[in-house]
Amino acid sequence: MPGDVYHLMLEAIGEAEKAAAEGEVPVGAVIADAEGKVIARAHNRPVALQDPTAHAEILAMREAAARCGNYRLVGATLVVTIEPCIMCMGAALHARIAQVVYGARDSKGGAAGSLFDLGDDDRLNHRIQVVSGVCEDACRRLIQDFFRERRRNPDTMRRGTEVVVTGSTRNRLVPLTAGHVGSNPTLSANNFK
Ligand SMILES: [Zn+2]
Repeated sequence: MPGDVYHLMLEAIGEAEKAAAEGEVPVGAVIADAEGKVIARAHNRPVALQDPTAHAEILAMREAAARCGNYRLVGATLVVTIEPCIMCMGAALHARIAQVVYGARDSKGGAAGSLFDLGDDDRLNHRIQVVSGVCEDACRRLIQDFFRERRRNPDTMRRGTEVVVTGSTRNRLVPLTAGHVGSNPTLSANNFK
């Protein structure tokens, strides 16, 4: 693992701040190669890209793979402000990421030890070492401040975050309630208390 995970996390926090400024749920990610050199940086952009897969980790893995000319990122470390979801841990497994370092836990959606532990599952053919709690308070505060601001100024909500369409209510629009943010409905401030 790169020695200076704090430095990498500070870069990821900088990416998360960019997401917040764009009205996206503030999650940022950085990928370092086996030597510790940063090969990708990204922030959450599902609203802007109208893409439910546009989580910071996915965008960073795409950038890193393109840069390396290889879909396998063997030996790489993914540093992300919030515990990755099942999709992102799934992609990290496909990419053969060696380590995931994250800041704050996501108790309701995290797949790196909270809700699921996909990095350490005997049924899968790859293991990912997980380090949690790096700059935890700063990462959590970004999310909490973001949702607090949303509640205070609902008019500032971005296009694409105004409705949630779920199972039994499919095909009709449901007003947004606190704790649901359109394309990333599993993330809310309540997850990070
Ligand atoms: Zn994700």
